[in-house]
Amino acid sequence: MEKLPRFTNIFSRIETREEADDESLIVLEATAPFPFELTAENPCLCRLKAIGKLSMYPGPLEVRDGVVRQVLIREEGAGQVGFLICLEVPSGSYVTVHEGLPVRVAVHISRRPVREFYQGRRIVIDPGHGGPDTGHRGPVNLWEKDVVLIAAREISTALKRLGAGVAVTREGEENPSWEERIKKAEPGTDLFLSIHAHGNIDRTVRGTAIKYNPRAEDGEVLARMALEAITTKTKMPARGVEPCRNLEELGKVPALLLEIATITNWVDEGILRNPHFYRKLTLATLSAFYHFSLKVRH
Ligand SMILES: [Zn+2]
Repeated sequence: MEKLPRFTNIFSRIETREEADDESLIVLEATAPFPFELTAENPCLCRLKAIGKLSMYPGPLEVRDGVVRQVLIREEGAGQVGFLICLEVPSGSYVTVHEGLPVRVAVHISRRPVREFYQGRRIVIDPGHGGPDTGHRGPVNLWEKDVVLIAAREISTALKRLGAGVAVTREGEENPSWEERIKKAEPGTDLFLSIHAHGNIDRTVRGTAIKYNPRAEDGEVLARMALEAITTKTKMPARGVEPCRNLEELGKVPALLLEIATITNWVDEGILRNPHFYRKLTLATLSAFYHFSLKVRH
């Protein structure tokens, strides 16, 4: 019997490039070189047809990076596997092959649509608490004021890379008043993003929640889209969305308050130590606002 290559792993990552647009990569690993074909089934669906045997979790792979939504994996019989790459927006793609062990076949998808959207947007990032105001404390030793600063820096860096104008309400140990914080939202602000962690006396409570500005158009829709994107990408439980009185002071400016995790729960505190969590949170948050603007507000 003929021995087929085995597909052992699939993952996504972002490739940042200096002189060209960043790319979303879908990387398929195999035990040996394999024949494949990449076709565009429609503007938002690429299909990588590959000859080999599936030796891994059959997916789907939730990508949610703004350009790629997910990858569906189908065994199509006769030693053939289809990897269906579902795009959120039409974008150009090509394939590269890296021989070695494992063999890697990467589908590259341009992230230009995301950059074009964020170019020139004005966004305020507001890490909660600061200085003597520590916020909630984790069961081991993490403080809310520190983890929200990590998240804020990760999101700000990603936004600046995309060409957005970013204002932050604090960069270190200062603790501006709420009034000072919302003053950063000048007329024409596209999004005000406040970052917190939830704290609960019930230490079994965990997960992510989002509060929104009810005076902003479709504020609840934006909150739901963001919660769905973040919890799918990070695999955090969803604690729901609710309107927020404080955010109403921003008038019609779209505003969210992310409770990124429940720091008083030991599982969530562990997750808050993982740098991958902040990267996933950033990708999902930026992806959600982009798609909200595209689909809901035109
Ligand atoms: Zn807080």
